[in-house]
Amino acid sequence: MAVFYVVATPIGNLKDITQRALDTLSNVDVILCEDTRVTTKLLMAYDIKKPLLSYHKHSKIGKIDQILDLLKEGKELALVSDAGTPTISDPGSFLILKIVENFGGEINIVSIPGPSAVTAALSISGFCADKFKFLGFPPHKKGRQTFFRNISKEKDTIVFYESKHRIKKALLELSEVSGEREIVLCRELTKIFETTYRGTAKEVLEKLEDDKTLGEFVVVINKV
Ligand code: SAM
Repeated sequence: MAVFYVVATPIGNLKDITQRALDTLSNVDVILCEDTRVTTKLLMAYDIKKPLLSYHKHSKIGKIDQILDLLKEGKELALVSDAGTPTISDPGSFLILKIVENFGGEINIVSIPGPSAVTAALSISGFCADKFKFLGFPPHKKGRQTFFRNISKEKDTIVFYESKHRIKKALLELSEVSGEREIVLCRELTKIFETTYRGTAKEVLEKLEDDKTLGEFVVVINKV
C-alpha cells in the first residue's frame, strides 16, 4: 500500500528533527513543501537530495490533481511545512481530505510527529495543559474583537499564534479582556533570541515595549 507521510520539521533549531523524519525524507520519491528555499536549507543540513514540489496555501486544484496523479503512479510522498507540524495553522488538511476521498484505505496516511510551536510553548508555560484550547491566529480585521472577547469567556488554558506585526496590538487587546489572568509569551522558541515573558498581558506588553527584537510569537493564557 502506498504511503503519504506528514512530517514535522524544526520550528527554528535545525537539530530538532527526529531520526524517523530524516529517514522518511531520505526515502520518499518527492517532498511536498511550502517554500522550496526553506525546505532546501533543512535538507542541505542533512545532506538529503530529493525532488521538491511546492504545495502552499495558494496552490490551485491543479496542483492537488498533480499530487493525486503521483500517488496513482505509486510514488511515496512526504508533506512538510516551513516549520513545525504540517496542517497546524499551515496547509495540508484539504490535500489530506482529497487523498482520503480519492483513495480511501488504499493510501496509508502516516504521521511522523515532532515539533510544533503550540506544544513547545505550552510545555514551558507551567499552566495546566491537561486540557487547552488552541485558537490559531487572531483574525487581522473582521472578527478580531470577537476573538478577544471570546477569550474572556473561555475558562481553560488558551494558546494562540500572533505575527511580529501585530503582537503588541494583540497584547493590548488581550489586556482589555483578560485582566489579572497570567499569560506566557514565547518568542523565537529554539532560536538564538528565544525569550519567555511571564505576567499579565499588560505587564508582558510593558516588557516587550523595551525589547527591539521581534520574531515569532506564541501566547499562552492561564485557565481561570
Ligand atoms: N505549523 C507550525 C507549528 O506546528 O507550530 C505553525 C505554523 S504558523 C504559519 C507560524 C506561527 O507559528 C508563527 O507566526 C508563530 O506564531 C508560531 N511559531 C512558529 N515557530 C515559532 C517559534 N520558533 N517561536 C515562536 N512561535 C513560533
